[in-house]
Amino acid sequence: MRLEKYLVLCGVLSRKKIKKAILEGCVTINDNIITDDSTYIDIEKDIVKFNGVIPKLKVLRYFVMNKPAGYITAMEDKNFKTVAELLPDFIDKNSTFPVGRLDRDTEGILLFTNDGELNHTLSYPDKKIKKRYLAHLDRTISLEDIEQLKLGVTLDTGYKTLPCNVEYISEKKIYLEIVEGKYHQVKKMLKAVNNKVIYLKRVQFGKITLGDLKLGEVREINREDII
Ligand code: URA
Repeated sequence: MRLEKYLVLCGVLSRKKIKKAILEGCVTINDNIITDDSTYIDIEKDIVKFNGVIPKLKVLRYFVMNKPAGYITAMEDKNFKTVAELLPDFIDKNSTFPVGRLDRDTEGILLFTNDGELNHTLSYPDKKIKKRYLAHLDRTISLEDIEQLKLGVTLDTGYKTLPCNVEYISEKKIYLEIVEGKYHQVKKMLKAVNNKVIYLKRVQFGKITLGDLKLGEVREINREDII
């Protein structure tokens, strides 16, 4: 495995900082200083030290929660109940964090991990990760509104949304599939067509779907199940 990748997996520093640290001579392999980040190591045999200490390979873990309404997406908060309170005891709350966020009143898929690299990848707009929402609306939605949403609407921030998929379910229910993640995006998109979201649930995130996961439940998944 490449030295740089190994150190990322150990979670010692971010990828960018690791390159710099290697160049600066902070890393040794079998007590020889290595300044080339593309060096390959044999993780069974080679002894890698970072600033003189042997780092441990971190086990990367991924969990999906079916978030209920009433909890904010944070690991701690003074005023509100947090999603961290719903994580089972076997999950290490010091190293695990939510990827992205759902509003306090939004339900559905929320991913948790201790994998900083994946978090970074998923938050890259270019990656165009699919997010599918079920939205219940206050007012009947017209075909014109649906067309408008599909083409893109201008949010109150002045931002024009990218083309997206909208599926009509009934007069006041739609599925909306976006690849962006602007703050309150779904609510703001519906506001842009003079409607209002009264219930919102994320039903897909990347490749992840809820399956039979009940509200408030958490299940461990594999890295390959995500994107
Ligand atoms: N869009 C919203 O408006 N709220 C969410 O929680 C997620 C997407």
